[in-house]
Amino acid sequence: MAFTLVDAQKGKAVRVALKADFFEKALNSPFVQKRKQGIPPQDIEPEIANPLVEKILKMPEENFLEIGDIFDFEVKKGKAVFTAKKCTKCGELTFVNKLRVLEDGSEVCIPCSGYKE
Ligand SMILES: [Zn+2]
Repeated sequence: MAFTLVDAQKGKAVRVALKADFFEKALNSPFVQKRKQGIPPQDIEPEIANPLVEKILKMPEENFLEIGDIFDFEVKKGKAVFTAKKCTKCGELTFVNKLRVLEDGSEVCIPCSGYKE
């Protein structure tokens, strides 16, 4: 499991991956065992969840993270959209650039529109 962290202002990025053995151990933790039984995270006793969180917060990064070299990363400049409207069908709050207009003029979210995107 890996992700790329981007510093949009400096145009730099770094790839960070969870170390496989750490990830494997995490999947065997009592917390994940409970999740596997279908227990929602908020219903798992804090006595189980909290020590795990504490442990990770105190753990040196190199014990569980593979941190790659920093590389150049160009962030596509698009105007950020901060206006949202409710889908007229399902009521889901949707960013206006993701709303689709139906033949009758109503604005709906993508799933409700039937369009792929
Ligand atoms: Zn909708």
